[in-house]
Amino acid sequence: MTAITSTTLSDGRELIYFDDAGTSGQRGAEATADHRGLPARGEPGEVRFDALTDEWVAVAAHRQARTHLPPADQCPICPTTPANATEIPASDYDVVVFENRFPSLGPSLGPAPEHPGWGTSGPAHGRCEVVAFTPEHTGSFSGLSSTRSRTVIEAWAQRTEVLSSLPGVKQVFPFENRGADIGVTLHHPHGQIYAYPYITPRAGALGAAARKFYDANDGRSTLTGSLLAAERQAGSRMVLEGTHFSAYVPFAARWPLEVHLVPHRQVPDLAALNGAEKDELAEVYLDLLKRIDGLYPTPTPYISAWHQAPLDDLLRPASYLHLQLTSPRRAADKLKYLAGSEAAMGAFINDTTPESVAERLRAVATTPAPAPAPAPAPAPEGVSA
Ligand SMILES: [Zn+2]
Repeated sequence: MTAITSTTLSDGRELIYFDDAGTSGQRGAEATADHRGLPARGEPGEVRFDALTDEWVAVAAHRQARTHLPPADQCPICPTTPANATEIPASDYDVVVFENRFPSLGPSLGPAPEHPGWGTSGPAHGRCEVVAFTPEHTGSFSGLSSTRSRTVIEAWAQRTEVLSSLPGVKQVFPFENRGADIGVTLHHPHGQIYAYPYITPRAGALGAAARKFYDANDGRSTLTGSLLAAERQAGSRMVLEGTHFSAYVPFAARWPLEVHLVPHRQVPDLAALNGAEKDELAEVYLDLLKRIDGLYPTPTPYISAWHQAPLDDLLRPASYLHLQLTSPRRAADKLKYLAGSEAAMGAFINDTTPESVAERLRAVATTPAPAPAPAPAPAPEGVSA
């Protein structure tokens, strides 16, 4: 069992320790006392309604002051030392989740304005959390142990359940941006969780397609479940298959590197996975990330995005938890930039074929080669035949 300890930072933000199964999980005063005396939290930013597209835009100009690629000895998510009082009061930890000091959404909670039109705006309600995957400043998720990976999954599941119950929250989105090339502002291995007061454009589009398919099949099958079955049947784009999860490059991948990791059972979100599913996810997610990291000699930037069912009565029954991992990397020294067709029109042009990417990912060895058989032990010295 993952031990969970919640505490409050000096400006009132919540911080939660998730300690690996098998550790004591006992957290003393040093872990729960933040002596920094931080100033009170500011007001939330603003959401404005874009009537042209029927979408919300968060205006978060206050985030311009946030920490940007600090040197390692000033990292805000390393454990606290006498020389560096960080966001995390403890001198050591396994996995930590805390409210972002510079959130795009929150700290206030509540619904987005109803019946919006041109000129509608409101406070940017919601919550933005940071998930520190490890106390180690360098490295990445793919280098975590299975035990630690499992603790992160438990944290994602617990936060999904809690954030889904907060007033006004319509969607909970755990994700990881990896690599400065895609805008990471802290090197320390970490992810984030956003709880939005509205359904995001991408979730809305996926949700509508899922609901349409579900209705056309009288609620007897789901779009993602049917795509998973089709990909497993076709085989050419599969990356890995487990008992409870499979990963494939989707038929119409948009990005030069794109993999979807899908549970075999329809569940709305990470909180709905059972213990056996979470155990396997801890392993297959590491396997997938090792394959991504094995493609090139240098770390590949990626966005790892959990698509969870929106908190919406119409969309939720047809929705199906899955991960979409995407990267703009199209060669060892080339990144794809979203240009006219993609950025202006949302019409993707992919420079790779999904089948060749899947083949390359399958070929990456993710487990060390078996050690050669040991040589026969030399006869002990001083013993004569
Ligand atoms: Zn750090």
